[in-house]
Amino acid sequence: MHAMVLKKLKSPLEMTELPDRQPGANEIRVQVLACGVCRTDLHVVDGELPDPKLPIIPGHEIVGRIDAVGAGVTGMQVGERVGIPWLGHTDGTCAYCLMQRENLCDHPLFTGFTRDGGYATAAIADARFALPLGEAGSDVSIAPLLCAGLIGWRSLVIAGEGKKLGFYGFGAAAHILAQVALWQGRSVHAFTRAGDTHTQAFAKSLGAVWAGSSEDTPPEPLDAAIIFAPVGALVPQALKAVRKGGRVVCAGIHMSGIPAFPYSILWEERELLSVANLTRKDGVDFLKLAPQIGIQVKTTPYPLAHANQALADLRAGRFEGAAVLTP
Ligand SMILES: [Zn+2]
Ligand SMILES: [Zn+2]
Repeated sequence: MHAMVLKKLKSPLEMTELPDRQPGANEIRVQVLACGVCRTDLHVVDGELPDPKLPIIPGHEIVGRIDAVGAGVTGMQVGERVGIPWLGHTDGTCAYCLMQRENLCDHPLFTGFTRDGGYATAAIADARFALPLGEAGSDVSIAPLLCAGLIGWRSLVIAGEGKKLGFYGFGAAAHILAQVALWQGRSVHAFTRAGDTHTQAFAKSLGAVWAGSSEDTPPEPLDAAIIFAPVGALVPQALKAVRKGGRVVCAGIHMSGIPAFPYSILWEERELLSVANLTRKDGVDFLKLAPQIGIQVKTTPYPLAHANQALADLRAGRFEGAAVLTP
């Protein structure tokens, strides 16, 4: 197999030939059909997340076809198309797993971070954490659903039932979640970097009722805001944009520091929360809903060998929607 491997933090991935591995107990091996590029991959490469496995094959939005099945695997067969998301393994026994919060497991493994991921021609996964995908939809368009979609979905659920939503940062996750929110009968306000009229127009083309700069005040107070961009300075801005009792959800795994802010913008029972990882139930729920909504995922495909270019383009905001690698 071939893979784009991160051998040292803050250095380019290297195309590497590796021996084919056989799946162990409870594992499957897939031939990778497509793998999305997520902002978390940038945080991994940049060394912003604690304790990565090194060397590591990044990538946790894997669409693959099973070509080998290890001992003990039930309910999955060779030939089946599956998705392999960020949550790669949990212990199943810690206090969080036992309270149905496996996203907070004390001993987890994360795909593309602490176990090898999908920037490769093949990948091995714990079968219990793989998601059956069926055959509807193209491999490339499904890949971004597996993180941008799934963790975005979890963020949207945690944001509550409010009708007026604000999305700070309108990239892969927000462009998917905007379609979900509109389908649910809610309105979406899109906040981008100041002057990014291109992305504002993109948000409006997807049905956003308003689009502007993250420093702008929306035309009406929001019920909830979700911050997708990894920018701590957006937290006070979003708190100012939500109504009394409103909620601000930080959807990313990493953020720059949050500047001090006056208590008055949190007061009146505004809430500030974060979202961490996903549960398998999030995956099952969202993948059942996605085809009903008819989500159109805007993708920019790159060959696997150009993974470094895809990451650089994501960092610079050079494409709309999501980048996807194909082997
Ligand atoms: Zn656990
Ligand atoms: Zn991700």
